[in-house]
Amino acid sequence: MRVAFLGPPGAGKGTQARDLAQEWRVLHLATGDMLREAVAAGSPLGREAKGYMDQGALVPDDVIIRMMGERLGKADAARGFILDGFPRTIAQADALAKLLKDLGQTLDSVVYFDVSEPELLRRLTGRRVCRACQTAFHVVSAPPKAPGVCDRCGGELYQREDDSEATVRHRLGVYNRQTAPLLDWYRDRGLLVAVRGEGPIADIRRGVRDAAQGAAA
Ligand SMILES: [Zn+2]
Repeated sequence: MRVAFLGPPGAGKGTQARDLAQEWRVLHLATGDMLREAVAAGSPLGREAKGYMDQGALVPDDVIIRMMGERLGKADAARGFILDGFPRTIAQADALAKLLKDLGQTLDSVVYFDVSEPELLRRLTGRRVCRACQTAFHVVSAPPKAPGVCDRCGGELYQREDDSEATVRHRLGVYNRQTAPLLDWYRDRGLLVAVRGEGPIADIRRGVRDAAQGAAA
């Protein structure tokens, strides 16, 4: 099973990737985690990546791809993997295809988590954080017992600027502009399967499972 999960922020692909990787006994590879682990381990590529991060720069694609090459060559990736949120651009998809070819592998499918914009806004703008102890709540999925008040310390809950509707709309716009061509790229190669990312979590999981396994069969 070798698949990539794509979807906008708030689409829930991380949760599904984690659960399905466990079910399928394959590697769950999120690039953010991979970077943090490589930096913490102090590997040569980790040190190279840290140089960029210390300057506040993005880690270049070629560093990420080489890091993925190392990671996918390890024993725990032998049964396969789920890439979580990667690639994000056609250049990355192209580099990934070359890397997998070098490893003698191919992607079975690319699962796109399709979630409507109103639902994404509801999920992403609902977070409230305590000013005193920083505990996070969600007005819909994890509400505090009393509105606006922290369950843990009684502090005031507020909405971070990052979670404001204007900021979230901007992030979603950036994602759509960047990813729309990538979806076409994978569609042209017959790899793209869209799954509805709304509704009960078990139903979404069933949809993703069918999509990925149907494509792999
Ligand atoms: Zn608190």
